[in-house]
Amino acid sequence: MSGLKEECGVVGIFNMESAAYLCKTGLYMLQHRGQEAAGIISFDEKFHQFKNHGLVSNVFDENNLAKLTGNMAIGHVRYATSGDGAFENIQPFLFYNQNINFALCHNGNIVNSDELKAYLSNEGVIFQSNSDSEILGHLITRNYNGNFIESLKTSLNMLQGAFSFLIIYNNEIYCCRDKNFMRPLAVGKTNTGYVVASETCVFAPLGAEYVCDVQGGEIIILGDEIKSHKYATETTNRMCAMEYVYFSRPDTVLDGHNVSDVRNALGRQLYKDYKNEIEGFKPDMVVAVPDSSLPCAVGFSQISGISHELPLVKHKYSGRSFIEPTQAKRTDAVNLKLGIISSIVRGKNVILIDDSVVRGTTSKQVIKLFKQAGAKSVMFLVASPKLIDRCYYGVDIHTKDELIAHTTTHEKMVEYIGCDYLGFLSIESLKLCLQNENICTGCFNSKYPTYIKKGD
Ligand code: AMP
Repeated sequence: MSGLKEECGVVGIFNMESAAYLCKTGLYMLQHRGQEAAGIISFDEKFHQFKNHGLVSNVFDENNLAKLTGNMAIGHVRYATSGDGAFENIQPFLFYNQNINFALCHNGNIVNSDELKAYLSNEGVIFQSNSDSEILGHLITRNYNGNFIESLKTSLNMLQGAFSFLIIYNNEIYCCRDKNFMRPLAVGKTNTGYVVASETCVFAPLGAEYVCDVQGGEIIILGDEIKSHKYATETTNRMCAMEYVYFSRPDTVLDGHNVSDVRNALGRQLYKDYKNEIEGFKPDMVVAVPDSSLPCAVGFSQISGISHELPLVKHKYSGRSFIEPTQAKRTDAVNLKLGIISSIVRGKNVILIDDSVVRGTTSKQVIKLFKQAGAKSVMFLVASPKLIDRCYYGVDIHTKDELIAHTTTHEKMVEYIGCDYLGFLSIESLKLCLQNENICTGCFNSKYPTYIKKGD
């Protein structure tokens, strides 16, 4: 059985009154990372939990939050697609045995989950969910011989893949990041305690000041003081490029780089890479497909002097159309999500920028909108390289057959999405803008930073 494909968000609150309420606020700030389900486990003398399907604001109310007592909590928002939606997969998870009790939650994907599940099943372990996140809990309990941190280190070293884990154990929160830095995790400080979260955009609303990013191969323990342990020595920052391109909020700072600044740089780079074609096109305006690519279009406009216009109107209450399970629903969702102001685009040459093309649904629908509104021609520039392979580390791309850039030629893509010119950023340009040669580009060039099980 292959692991779940999910992109999630985690939040931890340490030593703050009404921790569960604050954790809910943190999860609300991470709603863009997962809209399917949410859960919180708090701790005073014992664990208290509540989780359910739905958006953070629907899952938690005064009634259930009041029961999550304690000044320590961890929470999770989950993004999964059809088939993975079982209640038992909603995190955080609780583990109890005679020796140790702990709670954990996870963002990422464990690539050797099949092997580890086979090993643990042979040892007699019964799984409560089909989530790969449960594996770490069983490894810790099996490896435990009286010293929690040692059993955690041994267990983390058995995992391959992408992970940011939060664990409540013995009045402390353990924050762990994989040795390739693939999923983000940062720590902030408040007057009384700490906040740890997938993204730093959580900190300001909770009154926290950024302290540090958890490093790859590191375990930070939030207790009376912050302690740091290394569980791996060979570490390299191979953060997922899509965190910058699409997932994270623009006001988040990932490993020292503000996401909006990076997207602005991607937009500038698009202009540099396609300068000749752009001049030949005689553009009247540059337009972003909202929201992720807005900073790209701003950067593009700043460097080129081409006016940045806002003819697209996004329905404020729409979710992410990508998550819809069928193509018909995805197309409907894009149609409901975006409207256009014809008077801005009629008779104009438009450069349209989006952050990425996956199946081609959004680009096709948006370009159709421009053409119906009377735009003369549309040059479609994408602020990332062609997505040609699946992600094994938690981004929801199940099979490369879903990817239009894998299944068809450049010319056929132009025809399918209906633009007059189509350009992508190169992998080299992406690395330049992200200021990291080692960034994970597996979905762009099939070069994965860890062992993967091909054909999975
Ligand atoms: P598509 O419509 O299938 O070509 O998907 C491209 C659109 O989905 C772009 O506008 C992106 O902003 C967004 N997107 C890209 N990657 C993902 C992802 N892994 N999950 C959800 N949305 C995504």
